[in-house]
Amino acid sequence: MKKYYFDYASTTPVDSKVVNAMKPCYSGIFGNPGSIHRFGQEASAIIFKSRNSLAKLIGCDYREVIFTGSATEANNLALRGTLKALIQNLKIKNQNDNLKIKNNSAKRGSEHSRPRIITSAIEHESVLETCRDLEEEGLAEIVYLPVSKSGIVDLKKLKTSLNERTVLVSIMYANNEIGAIQPLFEISKIINDFKKRNFQSSITPDFIEDPRQGRDNFQTNSKKGETHNDQKNWELGIGNWELGTMYPLFHTDAVQAFNYLDCDVGDLGVDMMSLSSQKIYGPKGVGCLYVKNFGGFRGNKFISSIITGGGQEEGLRSGTENVPGIVGFSKAIEIAFNLREIENKRLKKLQEYFWVNINPTHNLCGGIKKRFSKIVLNGPKIGVDRLPNNINIYLQKNLIFKLDLAGFAVSGGSACSARLAKPSHVLRAMGCSIEKSSESVRISFGRQTTKQEVDRLLKVMHSILK
Ligand code: PLP
Repeated sequence: MKKYYFDYASTTPVDSKVVNAMKPCYSGIFGNPGSIHRFGQEASAIIFKSRNSLAKLIGCDYREVIFTGSATEANNLALRGTLKALIQNLKIKNQNDNLKIKNNSAKRGSEHSRPRIITSAIEHESVLETCRDLEEEGLAEIVYLPVSKSGIVDLKKLKTSLNERTVLVSIMYANNEIGAIQPLFEISKIINDFKKRNFQSSITPDFIEDPRQGRDNFQTNSKKGETHNDQKNWELGIGNWELGTMYPLFHTDAVQAFNYLDCDVGDLGVDMMSLSSQKIYGPKGVGCLYVKNFGGFRGNKFISSIITGGGQEEGLRSGTENVPGIVGFSKAIEIAFNLREIENKRLKKLQEYFWVNINPTHNLCGGIKKRFSKIVLNGPKIGVDRLPNNINIYLQKNLIFKLDLAGFAVSGGSACSARLAKPSHVLRAMGCSIEKSSESVRISFGRQTTKQEVDRLLKVMHSILK
């Protein structure tokens, strides 16, 4: 039986040019990049080249790229690393100022006094589960922003959720299930406006004792009765501290976006961005986190490592680098970047063909919407705020299995949780019923998808549903 792949949002086949770029790393260039000798230097040089090339394509400095083992790990680093650094910095500050951290510090803070992380209800599990963990550990208060019926994050709610305790906003660029593209630029503007208004604001989780205690020598130039900014910030806790002005940081999970959307970190206005190699026709098991440098590489002050050891990757991700993976990832980024415009246009056409167009030459081709009156499209309208390779539909029960039996690979929720057959949290957040959230099907196109393949899929769907 011929097999048809319509699950490119789950993973992509490795591009042959990527395979060729990786080959030398499996033979000649095998040294440990951390070794001083020639073998090590060769490996280190090839990583440097890859890092530099990748950095240029996302508009950052090479030292701002931290290679990880996956985007899941990059997301974990962004969230856990931000919180860890905050806690470490507060401890250092406390020691310097003779302040005490309360016993069993973080857990004692009430929910309303912990550092706040704002995310959305439709993030990938690697963000949501991490948030839940941080919440359970008592380290953060998490705000899950609601989304509209088409899956776009509620910006009004974002505005009202930002407060002086907010350390991080983590919103994905494009959703993996419904392809909804989030307005990152607007989000970045909202955060920046908030920062401007609250330039002197600061964060005081209540696991810190009153910072005024023990500060007998507190000096202020302010007149009596008037609160000097420094003093005000001291009262708040850490405001006088240079980090105060960085928060809230803005992180995005751009895993699904890179193939089709501008991912220049400057254009997007993000401080951190996660990418995954396997979604862009690169090898599996490698990803990266862009981490903005606010001054001074090594020991970046607002993020701490969550994997400790030899101090690779600017000290943020220990472990011998996956040299072939990094080389392949960088090559994949280069190819995806160069194909972005062409693929975007081609897949947009294919998506429209699948959804609305009727092929005049064959009455069973194109235009699924017109053929099945009961079909429901989940997510944004075709062509508006939606990735060009994503279709998410609800038609009838067990469609995924029937299609699989006919040789067509489509998907339910995200790949990692699809096997659990639980209702999609994304569709639930959009207000869909449990049945619809459990039985909807994601069809995702990619570089190898042709019009002929789409027609075959449509024909099979037609015969299944007859
Ligand atoms: N973020 C999104 C939006 C994803 O779709 C995925 C994978 O499905 C991930 C993160 C995790 O990527 P990785 O498999 O590299 O950990």
